[in-house]
Amino acid sequence: MKFYSTHKQTPAVSFREAVILGQSPDKGLFMPSELPVYPKGFMEAVPRLSREEIAVEVMKPYAKADLPVPVLADICAAAVDFPMPLVELKKSVYALELFHGPTMAFKDTGARFMSRCLGYFVRNMNRPVTVLVATSGDTGGAVADGFAGVDGVEVVILFPKGKVSEIQELQLTTHRRNIHSIAVHGSFDDCQRMVKEAFADPDLQKQLFLTSANSINVARWLPQQLFYFFTYRDWPERGNLPVISIPSGNFGNIAAGLWAQKSGLPIGALIAACNQNDTVPRYLQTGQFEARPTVPTISNAMDVSLPSNLARIMDMFDHGIEQVKSRLQAYSFSDQETADAMKQIQQTTGYQADPHGAVGWLALEAYLRAHPSVNGVFFETAHPVKFASLVKEITGQPVPEPGSIGALRNSPVHAIDMQPTVEALKNFLVSRIA
Ligand SMILES: *Cc1c(COP(=O)(O)O)cnc(C)c1O
Repeated sequence: MKFYSTHKQTPAVSFREAVILGQSPDKGLFMPSELPVYPKGFMEAVPRLSREEIAVEVMKPYAKADLPVPVLADICAAAVDFPMPLVELKKSVYALELFHGPTMAFKDTGARFMSRCLGYFVRNMNRPVTVLVATSGDTGGAVADGFAGVDGVEVVILFPKGKVSEIQELQLTTHRRNIHSIAVHGSFDDCQRMVKEAFADPDLQKQLFLTSANSINVARWLPQQLFYFFTYRDWPERGNLPVISIPSGNFGNIAAGLWAQKSGLPIGALIAACNQNDTVPRYLQTGQFEARPTVPTISNAMDVSLPSNLARIMDMFDHGIEQVKSRLQAYSFSDQETADAMKQIQQTTGYQADPHGAVGWLALEAYLRAHPSVNGVFFETAHPVKFASLVKEITGQPVPEPGSIGALRNSPVHAIDMQPTVEALKNFLVSRIA
């Protein structure tokens, strides 16, 4: 399988090249050049297979030219190495809990898959690959955890000092060895600027093999299809396909679902659940694409006003907005509505939702009101403990801490303080990594 750029200005590349490059040199996003061909009877067999077996079969058409099957199988096993239970909240409404991974958000699956692919692809290089990332919170933790202990890869993560939550900071700073966490005296924008300038620096390029662990990388994007296969696998209501509501920001997760559906997975409608950053819901409603400035919300991992993966969705449907609309519904909700939903979910079902999951619940409820004969699932994308004080303030109920948080609190932390300049970053990279 080859991967072409959505901008179509560069030749198609192999899986290996797409993973190492991350983004196409023409700034487009890589897309698989054809639909995957699965073994005959695979879809029908999904409910009887293990999650590892499903993962290997789903990822094989993309990766098999560059990854021997036993290697792919190990990578898949690591990517789905934690429970993803489908929990019934009330009649016709289920949550697929995607937060039982090491950093308690669904991004663990993609980060673990990508880090191990990259580790494999660079194993024979004579110098380490350096992954450079800026994070506002969640991504950095998933990347740090995914790459921890991966040989041949050094990871440098920049985060804004004092501007990430306590748990996020612990997840960023309690690794050692090949993970270098840098607390930048500045904002997330400073971190992002430093990373961009470092990538553009010809000196550094000569001394280091630099790459990113961006969320648009195909090795982070494609494994997210698995969440939809697992929903289908565990869906208890045969003869009635699940509608799935996905809390959406950069639209990577939902784009993976649309791709799985296009590849033949029998699932019902897919619903994008957005917060006040509503570029896509407005676009689908009016046909006018207009991105407004990003507004901060309580579901902050979805605070995106220019979702990168919309390019993949438009590409999948030949840029026809009517075709996209026939496959994708989108709703947006305010913080007040989200907080009210968190309270209501707690009171009516006893379930503690995090703000992202609550937006997913709201969109599912809105869809079910308009389509009373169907049942559905919303993805619970983060553990409520990541937003413990907010959840307690809104619902009045404390969030029980999973044991893993206690272990984090007892781990030594390592972070390097840095001024917000590319010179400081260059000095660090040259003296400590190169
Ligand atoms: C990243 C994230 C999202 C949004 O996912 P996209 O693929 O960017 O649409 C939703 N919820 C949580 C908790 C996240 O971390």
